[in-house]
Amino acid sequence: MINIVLFGKPGAGKGTQAEFLKTKYNLTHLSTGDIFRFNIKGDTDLGKLAKTFMDKGELVPDAVTIKMLESECNNHPDSSGFLFDGFPRTLSQAEALDAFLESKNEQITATIALEADDEVLVKRILERGKTSGRPDDQDAEKIRNRYQEYNEKTAPLMDYYKGQNKFHSVNGIGSIQEITERLSLVINSLK
Ligand code: ADP
Repeated sequence: MINIVLFGKPGAGKGTQAEFLKTKYNLTHLSTGDIFRFNIKGDTDLGKLAKTFMDKGELVPDAVTIKMLESECNNHPDSSGFLFDGFPRTLSQAEALDAFLESKNEQITATIALEADDEVLVKRILERGKTSGRPDDQDAEKIRNRYQEYNEKTAPLMDYYKGQNKFHSVNGIGSIQEITERLSLVINSLK
């Protein structure tokens, strides 16, 4: 089983790349952002709660997010590996994920970051906002908040995974195909 964490700032292209990688490597793609948005659409209790945070560009609380992620993993008992996209985003989430996988005799194989400058990313997000319908993509204040959350809570995870010798990064600027190839080189080197 290979379990990959796709890491990167908002707009780095995690979701786009996950679509290609999940097919190529037969992985179960779990995007916490997508799962929250699915729940918001369905007007579930989880969706209502998540919306109050997402609308402000804040992270959804760890306890809720971790519980949701674990139950999604448990829904795929026959998976040949997971591609985590947008999770973990805090140290508590990373520790919970390690403990959860360990309880199943599994572990994170590698974390791969998509690197790009903030300036490029903010432009991409605003462009995406024109068609995505995502309220958090259409407002400069919300986008700023997401970057602040990333810098404060998510960026420290790089050191966490470096400490485990599991951190890799690739240049996230280029064509979608070029970036898929860069990511594939890293994944192929893991096997
Ligand atoms: P982006 O990476 O562009 O910010 P996502 O779809 O990954 O987009 O996340 C959108 C929002 O969903 C985040 O701003 C946050 O409010 C919430 N969210 C997603 N994943 C997590 C997580 N692991 N922990 C807490 N909140 C999350």
